[in-house]
Amino acid sequence: MPDSVLSYHSDKMTASLKNTEKTLVGEIDFSIMQGEKLALIGETGSGKTLTALSIMGLLPQNVECKGLRIKLQCKGGRTHVGPDVFRTAGSAVVYIPQNGLESLNPRRKVRAHLYDTLRKNGYDKLAVAQKALEMLKLAGFESPEDIIDLYPFQLSGGMAQRVTIALAMTGRESLIIADEPTNGLDQVGRDNFLRLLDSRFPEAAKLVITHDMAVAALTDKVIVLKNGIVMEQGPSDLVLERPGCQYTKALMDALVGNGMKETPRLRDPDSCCPFYSRCSKACSSCFSVSNRKDGEHVWRCI
Ligand code: SF4
Repeated sequence: MPDSVLSYHSDKMTASLKNTEKTLVGEIDFSIMQGEKLALIGETGSGKTLTALSIMGLLPQNVECKGLRIKLQCKGGRTHVGPDVFRTAGSAVVYIPQNGLESLNPRRKVRAHLYDTLRKNGYDKLAVAQKALEMLKLAGFESPEDIIDLYPFQLSGGMAQRVTIALAMTGRESLIIADEPTNGLDQVGRDNFLRLLDSRFPEAAKLVITHDMAVAALTDKVIVLKNGIVMEQGPSDLVLERPGCQYTKALMDALVGNGMKETPRLRDPDSCCPFYSRCSKACSSCFSVSNRKDGEHVWRCI
């Protein structure tokens, strides 16, 4: 049985606004084992990015995460506990940003990005040139010499995403947080990206933030969020093939309109199901809905 790399629990996340406190995200609890991928899935404003930011200690100043407990078990047996594991664990936590192209400095060549990262990770001047080419090769570029002197604008979306993976390869990574990593990529690019993550970081725990059910289907575990509420969570095959919650079903059937771009809303923690106004199965029981459970598969629906 592999070890749990990341254990995460938060009671709730609240925002302070003009002397009032509003709940943005409710209780979330999950763990990711060695080599496992967990997808946080939901519309814009569902709380998935806030959850990732809370792990990285990068929440906006007016947002507070209450009851936050994070435990990170790193390679080599070192354990980091507490809200600031992102800082204390250093290069053991790697963040892969949403848009590879936008995350690269447009004025700097791929070579400069790689050299900076390698120097930061302790490689000396003589070693960086060879190591930079090696990292590009490992990230899937057959001829890294053709890539290393390109500027970001000369890269396609898929190539830029592979450069961000090359930058992430420090050899010390235990947890990868990938934020909408396949945005702008076609189906082949999406499959290749996740395959590359697995082959390059076989032992790392991976937290993948996505609104794409096809990406979620390629992970091991899924948490479905809606307006900061966990609607369903469990093994991907169970959640996606036999969803218990009508909201997950609607996501699967692409019935949630507006391109998954719902306007973020502050929610009342005691309100009824957040999908009530758009759910075809909504009824009076949805005002006091509670969690149902079958082993690791948990869902919130009537
Ligand atoms: S609790 Fe009711 S409104 Fe919410 S998803 Fe289930 S059936 Fe629909």
